[in-house]
Amino acid sequence: MREAYKLIFERSIQGHKGYDLPALDVPQMDKLIPDEYLADADLELPEIAEIDLVRHYTNLSRRNFGVDNGFYPLGSCTMKYNPKINEEMPALFNNLHPYADADTVNGALELMLNVDKMLSEITGMAKCTLSPAAGAHGELTGLMIIRKYHETREDYDRKTIIVPDAAHGTNPASASMAGFKIKEIKSAPDGGVDLDALRAAVGPDTAGLMLTNPSTLGLFERNIKEVAQIVHDAGGLLYYDGANLNAVMGVVRPGDMGFDVLHMNLHKTFSTPHGGGGPGSGPVAVKAELIPYLPTPVVFENECCGGVKLDYDRPLSIGRVKNFYGNFGVIVKAYAYLLSLGRGVREASQNAVLNANYIRVKLKDVYDIPYDRICMHEFVCAPTKEMIEKGVVTNDIAKALIDRGYHPPTVHFPLIVHEAIMIEPTETESRETLDEFIQAMRDIAKDAIENPDKVHAAPVTTPVGRPDDVGAAKNPIVKF
Ligand SMILES: *Cc1c(COP(=O)(O)O)cnc(C)c1O
Repeated sequence: MREAYKLIFERSIQGHKGYDLPALDVPQMDKLIPDEYLADADLELPEIAEIDLVRHYTNLSRRNFGVDNGFYPLGSCTMKYNPKINEEMPALFNNLHPYADADTVNGALELMLNVDKMLSEITGMAKCTLSPAAGAHGELTGLMIIRKYHETREDYDRKTIIVPDAAHGTNPASASMAGFKIKEIKSAPDGGVDLDALRAAVGPDTAGLMLTNPSTLGLFERNIKEVAQIVHDAGGLLYYDGANLNAVMGVVRPGDMGFDVLHMNLHKTFSTPHGGGGPGSGPVAVKAELIPYLPTPVVFENECCGGVKLDYDRPLSIGRVKNFYGNFGVIVKAYAYLLSLGRGVREASQNAVLNANYIRVKLKDVYDIPYDRICMHEFVCAPTKEMIEKGVVTNDIAKALIDRGYHPPTVHFPLIVHEAIMIEPTETESRETLDEFIQAMRDIAKDAIENPDKVHAAPVTTPVGRPDDVGAAKNPIVKF
C-alpha cells in the first residue's frame, strides 16, 4: 500500500516537472494493493434523482446555524460577518500549482509579503510566517521558536512556560507539545495577572510566559509593561495569544506592550468564516531578534534583482511546520480585507469594544457580572444567585437562547468564572440586533425567576432537544 502511495506521489512530482509519462496502469495498481484491501463485490451505490439529493442536503443545511442566519455571540471566537466578496478572491489564484517555481508565481509571493508587512505593522513586530494552519498551530510554532532561541544561546535549563489560570486550553497544550513544563499562576482578584504570583513563578527555568491581552475575561491587562519587565528580567520571552486581536487592531500593538512572539487567527479577525473546522490560518509574528528561527520557507524581498524570493537556507530555522506555504486561500482573503479596510481596522476594533460594553451595561441589573468594569470586545456574565437557587444554570440560559433564534455564547469558559457565559458581539452587528438580543437575555432572566420550568424545557424549537453531552463524548456513535 505504501508503495502505491509512493508511486502516485512520485508521478505527481514528475508530472509537474514536465516528464512525459504513460497513462496510469490500473491493473498494475491492483497488484500493489494487498488482496485483503480489495473489494470483492461491486459497490451498492444508491440511485436517486438529483432533485432528491438537492433536497436532502438543502434540508440538512437549513438545520445548521451560522452568522448568515443569525446573531452568533460566541465569546473568544470572533464570529463576525465576513464580506462575501472576499470569498471570491482566492479563486483568482486557482491556476497556480504549489510546485510552481518561485519566479513564475511572484505575484502570489508578493501578496504574501504584503500580508506579512501589514500584519507586522498592526502587531508591532518585525516579520511573520504565514505557514501555520490555525491558532493552536501558531502557538506550537511560536513556542518552538522560543525553545530554539534558548537552545541556540545554550540556555538549556529554560524548560518552563508560565500560563495564567484564565488561559485558553490550547496554551498549556501547545506548550506541552513543544516540550515545555507548565507552571500555572492564579489571576488577581481584578482578573489581571497577579504580579506577586508572577514574580514568585519566574526563575532560571523560565522559558517564557503566554498571555492574551485583552484576557479571556475581556479585560485589558493594565500592568502589561510590568508583566513584560518581570519576564524579561528573568530571561524569558513573552508569547501573545492573538485570538483577541479584534479588540485592539490599530489602537495598541502587542509589540509595544513588550511581547516577543505572537500568533493571529486570520479565521477570527481577518475575514475567514469558521466554526465548521477550517481551513484556518495562524500566522506567527516575531521581533527582529527571532527572525532567524522562523519556519522555512521565509518570504523575502529579492534585494539583488527585484521581486520576491523564498528562502530555504536558514540554518537556525525550526524547520517546516506545514506543507507548501500555509493555507494560501485564507491569506488572500485577509489581504482583501486589509486592503478594503485600511486604517479602518481601528474603527472595527473600536466598534467591537463599544458593542460589548453596550450589552454589558444593559444586562448588569439582571445577570451577575463578576468583573464589572469597562470591557474590551467581550465580557463574561453568569446567572445570579437567585437564578441558581431556582435551579437555573448557564446551560439552561444557553438553551433558552436557541429557542429565541440565537447561537448561544461560549459557556463554562474561562474556567475561573463559575457558570461563565462569555458574550462577544463583534463590530458587524447593528444596534437593532444588539437590542433584540438584550431583550431576549432579559426575558430569559425573568423566566428563570418566575417560571424556571420553561427555561429547563428549552430548547423546544430544534430537531434535537438536549443531547446527552457526556454520553456523546464518552461513547460517540459516528456512523448512521
Ligand atoms: C480560538 C483561540 C485559540 C486557538 O485558535 P484555533 O485557531 O482555534 O486553533 C487560542 N486562544 C484563544 C484565546 C482562542 O480564542
